[in-house]
Amino acid sequence: MAFEGLSTRLQNVFSKIKGRGKVTEDDVNEAMREVRLALLEADVNFKVVKDFIAKVKERATGQEVVKSFTPAMVIIDIVNKELTELMGGTQATLAKANKPPTVILMAGLQGAGKTTLTGKLAKLLQSQNHKPLLVAGDIYRPAAIKQLEVLGGQIGVPVFTLGDQVSPVQIAKQGVQLARDQGNDYVLIDTAGRLQIDAELMQEIKDIHSAVNPDEVLLVVDAMTGQEAVNVAQSFHEQLAVTGVVLTKLDGDTRGGAALSVKAVTGCPIKFASTGEKIDQLEAFHPDRMASRILG
Ligand code: GDP
Repeated sequence: MAFEGLSTRLQNVFSKIKGRGKVTEDDVNEAMREVRLALLEADVNFKVVKDFIAKVKERATGQEVVKSFTPAMVIIDIVNKELTELMGGTQATLAKANKPPTVILMAGLQGAGKTTLTGKLAKLLQSQNHKPLLVAGDIYRPAAIKQLEVLGGQIGVPVFTLGDQVSPVQIAKQGVQLARDQGNDYVLIDTAGRLQIDAELMQEIKDIHSAVNPDEVLLVVDAMTGQEAVNVAQSFHEQLAVTGVVLTKLDGDTRGGAALSVKAVTGCPIKFASTGEKIDQLEAFHPDRMASRILG
């Protein structure tokens, strides 16, 4: 399960002061030192950890933890609130165009889970009575088009493809036009990823972006890759106005670094969490619930 190590570590830190009627300033400092180590071990960005600890300490001092009769509860509450803030505070929802269709562009490295997410998001939208259209814009990865067609077939959502010989810019443009003509209120454009960021990939997705002017650019990152996921997110965001991050593979053994750093480092909110390979394993990302889950 994701965050298991971090969860256990934090619970251990707080169990030391739980049940105690009083703590000293030193106890608070010691607890903060351990929280800091736990976060670093969970692969949270160094600067993010530093700022986080400073904020918690500031609040802990302000709230006079040492004078409280339930000091552990006060500290846990502060940490919970700061973790929630760190992950974006409130839930960030999907953009909606004033005039349909809402165009959503998927971006990310190969294998991050873009195509899978495209299917999942279509299913979610469909369950909310929307009429999505999927657009197969990944013409390079063998079987990506087929994969999207299979996903669309499973849930009864149409998939627009022009095969792999037409440019993704054309495919995206025609897909959006088709959605307009057919009355689809959402268009989800799957795009090609590479094994790592390269100029060609970026140029292509930028061209698609200018051609269809999406309402939402969802950057799909593999949470299992920790800080690397955050670096990828930052590089994408520097070149493309990413409007939301989707963390995938949160069902795996991820330590938590990506979930806890990506908002603070890039400024982009996390909108969804993908928690498995099955089409219904997608959740809206709730920072408060995630913080509570981490604190156990
Ligand atoms: P793309 O290259 O970005 O389009 O990636 P795919 O959608 O093809 O996903 C790559 C692999 O990751 C596939 O085997 C998916 O089944 C798997 N995958 C995607 N999302 C998740 C997830 O949330 N959890 C797990 N465990 N696997 C996932």
